[in-house]
Amino acid sequence: MSSKDWIEKDFYAVLGVDKAASADDIKKAYRKLARESHPDHNPGDPKAEERFKAASEAYNVLSDTGRRREYDELRSLFGSGAFRRNARGGGQPGGMPFDVSDMFGGAGGGDRRFGGAGFQDLFSSIFSGGQAGGQAAPRGPARGRDVETEVALDFGDAVRGVTLPLTLRAPGVCETCHGNGAKPGTQPRTCPVCHGAGVTTRDQGAFSFSEPCRNCQGVGTVVEEKCPECHGTGGVTKTRTMNVRFPAGVADGQRIRLAGRGEPGERGGPAGDLFVHVKVRPDELFGRTGDDLTLSVPVTFAEAVLGTDLRVPTLDGAVTLRVPPGTPSGRVLRARGKGVVRRDGQAGDLLVTLDVVVPARLSDEARAALEAFAEQSPPAAREHLDARVRRVS
Ligand SMILES: [Zn+2]
Ligand SMILES: [Zn+2]
Repeated sequence: MSSKDWIEKDFYAVLGVDKAASADDIKKAYRKLARESHPDHNPGDPKAEERFKAASEAYNVLSDTGRRREYDELRSLFGSGAFRRNARGGGQPGGMPFDVSDMFGGAGGGDRRFGGAGFQDLFSSIFSGGQAGGQAAPRGPARGRDVETEVALDFGDAVRGVTLPLTLRAPGVCETCHGNGAKPGTQPRTCPVCHGAGVTTRDQGAFSFSEPCRNCQGVGTVVEEKCPECHGTGGVTKTRTMNVRFPAGVADGQRIRLAGRGEPGERGGPAGDLFVHVKVRPDELFGRTGDDLTLSVPVTFAEAVLGTDLRVPTLDGAVTLRVPPGTPSGRVLRARGKGVVRRDGQAGDLLVTLDVVVPARLSDEARAALEAFAEQSPPAAREHLDARVRRVS
């Protein structure tokens, strides 16, 4: 918490007392507020909890004569209203003619009154108890968080599109104890160390320091008998399942955004978005390049030389491809429209790569026939290589 936050906070307003209020009036006002907003009397009411913490935070400063004086001094130095406009509005008319954060931070921040210690450091130490005090200001609607998840799709499902149930896990409030962590029928007890303030104060030299209470971790209450559902944490993992439509042609590595399907908003805010990272499992036959599917088909030397008709599978059937005589190894044949059908109705192609295979073994008859063929066939066209070999040897 920075000194800015502290100047902005009006502890007198939080307690509903005058700036000149006596220590007794402050104590009375705090006790009344603490009683009304105490978490024990308002289980599961976050607004009451906020009021309670804000009151504790304010009382923590105003009940200490020394710190109340520092606080008053700081606020009269900068004037809370003017500062607030300046800090939030960035130089609106009426704001202060200089940036207070510059004064606090940086090389010039040392102030002789405090023995050269940086203003910023000093005040954040003095008022560090505020960190445990939580947010005193009322908060408006908040958008729910975005959620990211990953889904693995079968190859064919990704090409054709598919609707799948998706189960998401997210932290939620335990319904057995409504988030207070106490066994049903029991209540969290006010922390005996900090008396519910959530902060403890210790003195060091001329200053006293506030820090979050170690006994209750700054919550202000302790749980004696833990809720069996959440083991005293107040939180559980919630699962929710929804159907998600993956469009035809979704690709491996793609991220799909589902607006408003993330975590619900708070206090009437909109829900966050759900982002689904798509993994596509490889297919044992087909590959994919953009909207085209790929397939490798082995052919014999004779088929490549003499030509043939090939019956090859597509993702949803089969097609016949004409291999013309004299087709070289590696030639790609195209089956139009047999690839990925996109949303606009256009489709990619199936690209069939011919792979001339060389038999590792031959029967005697095949060998004799091949040798006869070799005698009749023209030599391979490698004169250009032979020329180079002659020159270097
Ligand atoms: Zn405590
Ligand atoms: Zn619970």
